[in-house]
This record gives sequence, C-alpha cells and structure tokens, in this order.
Amino acid sequence: MSFYENAKKMLAKSAEIIKLEQGIYEQLKKCTKTLIVSVPIKMDDGSIKVFDGYRVQHNTARGPGKGGLRFHPNVTLDEVRALAMLMTWKCAVVNLPLGGAKGGITCNPNELSVNEIERLTRRYTSAIIDLIGPEKDIPAPDINTSKREMGWIMDTYSMNVGATTLGVVTGKPVEMGGSLGRETATGTGLYFILEEIAKKLDIDLKNATIAIQGFGNVGSSFALRLYEEKVGKVIAVSDLKGGIYNPDGINCKELFEYAKRNKGVSNFKGTKNITNEELLTLDCDFLVPAAIEGQITEKIAPNVKAKVIIEGANGPTVSAADDILNKKGIVIVPDILANAGGVIVSYFEWVQDLHSFFWDLERVQSELKRLLKKSFNDVWEISKKYNTNLRMAAYILGVSRVADAMKMRGLFP
Ligand code: GLU
Repeated sequence: MSFYENAKKMLAKSAEIIKLEQGIYEQLKKCTKTLIVSVPIKMDDGSIKVFDGYRVQHNTARGPGKGGLRFHPNVTLDEVRALAMLMTWKCAVVNLPLGGAKGGITCNPNELSVNEIERLTRRYTSAIIDLIGPEKDIPAPDINTSKREMGWIMDTYSMNVGATTLGVVTGKPVEMGGSLGRETATGTGLYFILEEIAKKLDIDLKNATIAIQGFGNVGSSFALRLYEEKVGKVIAVSDLKGGIYNPDGINCKELFEYAKRNKGVSNFKGTKNITNEELLTLDCDFLVPAAIEGQITEKIAPNVKAKVIIEGANGPTVSAADDILNKKGIVIVPDILANAGGVIVSYFEWVQDLHSFFWDLERVQSELKRLLKKSFNDVWEISKKYNTNLRMAAYILGVSRVADAMKMRGLFP
C-alpha cells in the first residue's frame, strides 16, 4: 500500500467514527492544489540536469498551507501528497491557524555541490512562486533541507516580488528573520511529549531506556535535550548506515560531535554496531523512530519490544504494522502530535515575521511546551472518551477541526 493510501486509510477510519459528512470526506481525500515542476539547473561541469519537483497543498480551510520541503532520491508525488495530508492534521491537532502542504525535489543532495543545491533551490522556488507566500503557503525545512535552503528561498522570493518578505518560509537563519529555537524545535517537542506520556503511564524517566532511529536534525536534537536534562538512558542510535548499541547508555553529546566528524554514528567508542532492524526491535521503554516513513513494517512489528513508541518522523509506522502494535498493547504517540514541535515553532516564526517583533528563546520554549502539553492532553482525553488509541484520537481531533472550519466556511460558490 502506498504512503498516500496509508494516510487515506486513517482518514477513512476516523471519518467513520466521527460520522463525517460524505461531502467533506470526499474533499479531504484529495489534495486541493498539486503543482509538478521540472527544475533544470546548470551543473558545475557545464552540463544541464533536470529534476522533478512538487508542491502540494492538501487543505487550507484553517489557514495558509504549511509544510516542509524535502530533498531525497525517493521523493514522489504520492509521498508529497501523503505528507501534505499529514500536515493538515498536525496543524489542526495542535490548533494552529494553518493548513497542510508539502514540497519535495527528487534528488540526492549528497551527489550535488553546494552551488548546485543553491541553483536547484532557487530555480524550484521560482517555479512554485505563484503557489507560495506568507498568506498562501509557507515552506520549511524537512529531510535534507535546513536554514541554508530556507534563506535561499526567502531571498529568491523577495527578489521576485521586489520586497524582502520574511514570512514566506520558516526555519530561516536567525540573522534574517528566523526564530530562536526553531532548529531544535522538533527534538525539543519530542522531549516534552516524552515527559507527558511518562507521567500518564507512570514511567520513571530517570532510568528509562530509549532507542532512537535517525540522527539527523530531529533525532540528534532530541538526544541532546535528553543529555542536557540528564533524562533516561539512550541505549541505541542509528542512521542510514546502521546503528550502535550500548546497554549502559550512550553519551549523546560526544556522539553528536563524533557523528559530525565521521558523517555517521557507526563504530562510536564503547558501542556495538547493530542494524536498523535490530534497533527497532530492541527491548526498551521508548522507541523513537526519527528517520523517514515506512520503517516499522508488518514484518518488524511483531518483534517490537518497546513499551512506548514516540514518532519523530512522519509516517514511520505503516498501517498494517500499526494494527499489530496496537494489538500488542504498545502505546504509540503518533507523528501528527509527537513531532509537531517543528511546525509549532514555525508558526511562532511566521507570527514574529509578520509582526517584525522577535521573541527570546525562553518565550519560544515555554510557549512550545504549553501548546504541546495542551494538545497532548486534549488527545489523551479523546482517547479515553472514545476508548481508542492515541493515533485515532489525534485523527478524531484533527479531522473534526478541519471539517468544522470547512462546514462553517461553506462551499464556494
Ligand atoms: N517538516 C516539518 C514537519 O514535517 C516542519 C514543517 C513546518 O515547520 O512547516 O512537520
């Protein structure tokens, strides 16, 4: 089943529970705007290469489209549609006045020079320029994009419209309208979620064992926060090339420096190398998949031994695996709630840009914590009320909020 089919399946299940009107459901199954662009760039050797790019807005009933831009060889229209749909629910679950969108370019940035990546980013921006803007659709970082690319997007957009426009992207460098705390926001948010779920399940965080799949922006900032707070014991971490394991705990601060130098976590001192599959099936309190979608499959799910899964990535658990994990009684804090810290601080950045008034880090972090805590508890209450798991509860909340806005707005014309 494709990623988009998986995403639509969750919509269908939640629509049934909340008895969603047929007409609203039919609209929500589709993405309202899909732009496919071809992005030609001059390579450093003088040749020309053409890349495929996408920007999809799933739904904008509650506000402008919002969602990241991904650079990855496996980017497809199906994937971008699924991720745009997840953004709609995510923004609604944490009650942001934003809709859902996503973008991607099918490319391998590891095979491109910095200059080529800049030309690719700028040409893509100019190709989708009619779709984006502070009031229309606001991109942000995602896999393999960061503040650097967001800076180029902001500059390209501004040059084209003839005015410096801070609010067109979030996740920018702080020096040019970015928000303090945005870079680490998704990982920080995961940490706040960990605190909340541990309280509910009465798990002692001091000695809790944690396995993290992925050591990119999300996985590493989560791990560093755990280190700073002296919370839990990270017993395993992995990246694309494989994982490392130490039952006595890994020093994540040292690992962070090591992974930067060595371009990976493998062979870190005092650890044993393991595979990604071994990491996902480790005996631990918390498993945090923070890499990419489709990692916990039907094949892996029966062997997962974690008590709790906190989804740092978007869509790490495929639908059939989700059913297996639920039957096993594993508690899953779903992506659309767990990793919302990123888009929450993106929202703060957008608000700061529109006001040209910037907050200190303390304000960003405390507002993030407040919003996530509230959203977590909203979802928790719904799961009790409907006697269902946290993913379904989050969908019930997210889909209902979007449906309410659509009903109140009415159907144009
Ligand atoms: N790419 C991130 C996500 O999937 C952040 C999106 C944003 O900040 O707009 O949630």
